[in-house]
Amino acid sequence: MAILKQVKSKLRAHPLIAAIACAGLLGVVAQPVQAQFGLGKVIDSAKKVAAAASYTDQEMVAFFGQMSAEMDSKNPIATMSDPYGQRLAALTKGLDSYDGLDLDIKAYLVKDVNAFAMGDGTVRVMAGLLDEFNDDEVRCVIGHEIGHVKLEHGKKRMRGALQKDAALSVASTASSRVDQIANSKLGKMFDDVMTAQHSQKAERASDTYAVNFMKANNYDPQGCITAMEKLAKLSGGGPSIALLRTHPKPAKRAKRMKKLIEEG
Ligand SMILES: [Zn+2]
Repeated sequence: MAILKQVKSKLRAHPLIAAIACAGLLGVVAQPVQAQFGLGKVIDSAKKVAAAASYTDQEMVAFFGQMSAEMDSKNPIATMSDPYGQRLAALTKGLDSYDGLDLDIKAYLVKDVNAFAMGDGTVRVMAGLLDEFNDDEVRCVIGHEIGHVKLEHGKKRMRGALQKDAALSVASTASSRVDQIANSKLGKMFDDVMTAQHSQKAERASDTYAVNFMKANNYDPQGCITAMEKLAKLSGGGPSIALLRTHPKPAKRAKRMKKLIEEG
């Protein structure tokens, strides 16, 4: 208990994570993207990607891998000697992969009630969410985030944005100018892609995915319902709860998922 208390007191709202919201493949960043993400590395990669007329799924995975590494370098990760790391590992035991995606699930020691997943299989759960939710509720959130990845909600948006930028780069002749355009456009592009919310339709599809994820892994799907009920109670916390800021009303989601569970 003493150890847990000590760890909790170290938790803080990380400036990067404070702005992250569920975006499936991407953390949603409301702060200036370049400063927050330290995008030097990522932009280099994106430029390479943008130079091609199209790019492969492997390139996309590599691209998201870079973004994941960037996030990890900017946020405190719970190790296996940390109670948060131990609990998350226990509740996701055996979940090394799901639906063809190799998963790397870790916790960030930050206060926020949030989680995200990326196309390279990175799943990060914030300690604030672990504090609020029981094991099955956390699992449901993870399933929902994996849903955004597998249903390619963020990837489509990113692919479109990169291709749009590639056209701009090709249209320019002076290489220095290409660099300039690419950098400024990429900055804007990242901002657009990352701060955009998913559509209600995408959120519903991810909720459905989450319910199926729970059943497929023999987790209790009721965790999805109680997670929504807790989120509804937290709504008094307003926009500081990122999951509420970026998602449909939890009561509505609970009602829909309850129906899905009952219908089998
Ligand atoms: Zn979502």
